[in-house]
Amino acid sequence: MYRSFAKMNNRCSNCDLRIARPGGYYLGSVYVNYGITAATMTVIFLTLRVGFQIPMKTIIWPLFAFCLIFPVLFFHHARALWLAIDCQIDRSVMDDDG
Ligand SMILES: [Zn+2]
Repeated sequence: MYRSFAKMNNRCSNCDLRIARPGGYYLGSVYVNYGITAATMTVIFLTLRVGFQIPMKTIIWPLFAFCLIFPVLFFHHARALWLAIDCQIDRSVMDDDG
């Protein structure tokens, strides 16, 4: 989907699906990114705090850093997931040549 970190391809090189979409299309990927970040952080927190009983003061800053870094690293994947979800919900997205 991407040729560099911030440059998105216009079309998929494999199936020719139009990837570049009008402004605001990928806003939903922010919710996907947030949800996956929150779910992952919850699992990590419960594993460390409840499972291994690591004190809160030890895990709070690494988890804080995780919440800042993970969404940036997951940005491309969240957009790909959003496009895949949209294609599943609305098949006409895949036929759209506009
Ligand atoms: Zn493709």
